[in-house]
Amino acid sequence: MSARATVAIIGGSGFYQMDGIEDVETIELATPFGAPSGAIVIGAVAGARVAFLPRHGAGHRILPGELPQRANIWALATLGVERIISVSAVGSLKEEIAPLDMVVPDQLIDRTRGRVSTFFGNGIVAHIAFDEPFCAPLSASLHAAASGAGVRAHAGGTMIVMEGPAFSTRAESLLYRSWGAHIIGMTALPEAKLAREAGICYATLACVTDYDTWHPAHDSVSADMIIGNLLKNVAHARGIIGEAVASLPAVRACACASALADAIITPLDLAPEGAKRDLAPILERAGKAVPR
Ligand SMILES: [Zn+2]
Repeated sequence: MSARATVAIIGGSGFYQMDGIEDVETIELATPFGAPSGAIVIGAVAGARVAFLPRHGAGHRILPGELPQRANIWALATLGVERIISVSAVGSLKEEIAPLDMVVPDQLIDRTRGRVSTFFGNGIVAHIAFDEPFCAPLSASLHAAASGAGVRAHAGGTMIVMEGPAFSTRAESLLYRSWGAHIIGMTALPEAKLAREAGICYATLACVTDYDTWHPAHDSVSADMIIGNLLKNVAHARGIIGEAVASLPAVRACACASALADAIITPLDLAPEGAKRDLAPILERAGKAVPR
């Protein structure tokens, strides 16, 4: 495969293409986990080869719970991607995090249901560490770029990932506030878990469109206002990503790449051939010799 990229951007709602990308090639990849959300566009951003994948597909046709997240992460891993910057629209659970603010979260609470959240199974058992779900150095670069762009950017915070597609009830929103959570979205999981399994650094630029349903002002929020905020956020996010990519050191100084080192329980010589074949790109990236 000739197309290679070291950084990937997964664009969320409203973010369907990357501007300012040069020397572009578009590739369609098949994976053992089906087709990714859409064609992956690879081009040069700030001197790096960057892959762009619109999370919800061209024309925004895929629900959060329907996303082919294993196919997306597998495809990016096979392209050589070492870092993923995920862009997501979120609601705020805190008064001090206002619409048009950005948050680079450092924790997650999983409120999704029925999504397949691992590449493993089918005869190979692995348990990755996930106490720190985001890559700290990549998150720091993203936060610094957002702050430098004149956006009110919050470093750290807990993100609830809900199943959707309906938004929260008021009681749920108040419950999440009582847990101390900061923002709520629908897509960061299992994306972050799969990226960790694949040895890819993962950080999220969460763009606040509205206060969630807990807020007294919520009743006066219209879809037009939310979409207006979404588009403003995406315009800011594009600039922030360029700055963040330019600031990344060539060599990673984190432990993300070795997430699988001690995580696989099953001796690979006992594992089924089909499972090993499907996972070979990920196992080999982790330095695991795959018996043939
Ligand atoms: Zn990392």
